[in-house]
Parts: sequence; structure tokens; C-alpha cells
Amino acid sequence: MKITELFKKKMTFSFEVFPPKIEQPMEPLFETLEHLYRYNPDFISCTYGAGGTNVGRNLEICKAIHDSGKSIALTHFTCIGNTRESIREQLKTYLDSGIDHILAMRGDLPKGWEGTRGDFKYANELVEFIKQSFPQFAIAVAGYPEKHIQANSFAEDIAHLKIKVDAGAEFIMTQLCHDVDKYSRWVDKIRRANINLPIVVGVMPVLAKDATIRMAVSNGSSIPGDLAEVIGRWGESPENFKKAGKEYTIKQIFRYIDAGIDGLHIYTLNKWKDVSEILNNSGIRVSGD
Ligand code: FAD
Repeated sequence: MKITELFKKKMTFSFEVFPPKIEQPMEPLFETLEHLYRYNPDFISCTYGAGGTNVGRNLEICKAIHDSGKSIALTHFTCIGNTRESIREQLKTYLDSGIDHILAMRGDLPKGWEGTRGDFKYANELVEFIKQSFPQFAIAVAGYPEKHIQANSFAEDIAHLKIKVDAGAEFIMTQLCHDVDKYSRWVDKIRRANINLPIVVGVMPVLAKDATIRMAVSNGSSIPGDLAEVIGRWGESPENFKKAGKEYTIKQIFRYIDAGIDGLHIYTLNKWKDVSEILNNSGIRVSGD
């Protein structure tokens, strides 16, 4: 079953996890996955380290998800620092392991880099390569409701999104965007640009003050008034902040559902307990625990 088939029937529900650092054990993540499976996610995505630093672990995690038979595995994949031949080899390994869903990206340029130092400059070239060489993959691309931080304007960023969509993408997965009104305005803009693919919206749980600010700012994402209020009122008390942040996250989930999204994707930050509490309290997904 491909995720693209599911969009025709329902709003999908999914999670993102990331590989632990190389010096840390994998067991806690495998335990996290067991807890996440209880929510019957349509798919679980696994991030790909900057410049492919944790490729082995990403593959191991995607394979574990696939082999569990409990969810579809979607790998994130970046072309930065990768040659065409190394990408071909890696993609073949993913397919041989049963992983046929991919979020195809350029990746962030490390400080001091001018370009990707690889064979592809932008994500659209990677998408085109995958489409031609490995048509078995269902391909997602990244979308930026508040525009990509390096893009000069929305118009430019949306023109580039259109190029990667036309290269063969089948759905869009969004960058964190706390402001649902901004998301809706971006959707209007991309629909007017004739980008009509399903959109899976990523929701970042609000759990800790510094991380919430850091993640938003590093992506050029705004902090709307009601989130600023949570930070201002509860920022000095981690426990109260987490409680208020979870309530804020639940409201945000419902605002996105009301906006009419094709898929809800929770960035779990590998914190299954917090995510479970958010989901159980929201009532949108109740685990068998
Ligand atoms: P592109 O689509 O190539 O765009 C990059 C920039 O170049 C944009 O400003 C765009 O407007 C411009 N551009 C695009 N095409 C052209 C063109 N043809 N000509 C001129 N300019 C162009 N990073 C990781 O390292 N690992 C991850 O696992 C990861 N997961 C992510 C998950 C999601 C849902 C999202 C939204 C992002 C994720 N990222 C991840 C971050 C991502 O790699 C960065 O945002 C990166 O800087 C851009 O990748 P992209 O594929 O969107 O690039």
C-alpha cells in the first residue's frame, strides 16, 4: 500500500522520529517505536542526518519500521555531499530493504559551504533522478508555509516548489509552522500556482521554552501571539511550560484539522510519553495502553 492511495480515502496520521547520536544506544528508540505503533500511524518517517552523517542508523530504523509490519516507513533523504552513484547505491539498498517512500530534499548547507558539493544542486534534480531511476518510490518534497529561510520571496520559493513538484513529487510535507493562518494563506498561494498535491502538515509539540524558540527561529518560522503568551507566562517554569505547551499543541492540531489538511504528521522528538499524553488528551487517537 502506498501513502498516496490513502490520501484519496482519509486524512493520514503519522509520526517523525530521528536516529540517536552514534554513541548512544538504539534500544530507547526501538522502545519508542513500539509505543508509537499503538496509535496505528499510517507511516513513520525517519530523518537523515545533515550531510548523511547517520545514514546507517536511518536505514536500520526504517528497516525496523518496515519489518514490524505495523506501519509504512518513509525515509528522509538529502542529496548534499552525495554523488549520483552514491545516491543510486543508497536508494537501491532502501528498496532492497522494502522502503519505497522517500522525502527527497537538498539538505541544509553546512556553514561555509557555497553549494551542495555533490552532483545535484537542488531537490528538484534529486526528485527527477529518483523518478527516472527508481520509479518504485513514492516521493514527497519539503514545503515551507513561511517560505524557505534562504528564499528571497514567497513567489520565488513557490516557483521552485512547482519545479520539484513537476519533476515527479507526489505529496508535500511541511516545515514547522506555528501560525495556522499563515499556513492557510500559503496553501491559497500554492494552489493558485497550480500545485495541487496532498499536503501533510508537520506539528511540532511545544514542550520546552528554549527548544521551541530555537527551532522556530532557525527555520525563520514565526511565534504567534498565543505561543508568545505561553512563553511569557510559563517560560521560567519548565513544568508549567510543558503543561501549557501541550495544551497549546492540542489546540494547534485541531486548528490544522479545521483548516482541511491531507495528513497530520507529529514530530515526536523521540519523546513518546509527551506525544502520547498530547494524543490521548486531544482524543484524536487513543492508544491501546
Ligand atoms: P530545495 O527545494 O532544493 O530548496 C532550497 C532553496 O533553494 C530554497 O530557498 C529554494 O527556494 C531554492 N531553490 C530550489 N530549487 C531551486 C532552483 N531550481 N533554482 C534556484 N533556487 C532553487 N534536513 C536534513 O538534513 N535532514 C532531514 O531529515 C530533514 N527533514 C526535513 C523534513 C521536513 C518536513 C522539512 C520541511 C525539512 C527537512 N529538512 C531536513 C531540512 C531541509 O533539508 C532544508 O530546509 C534544506 O535547506 C532545503 O531542502 P529542500 O529539499 O527544501 O531544498
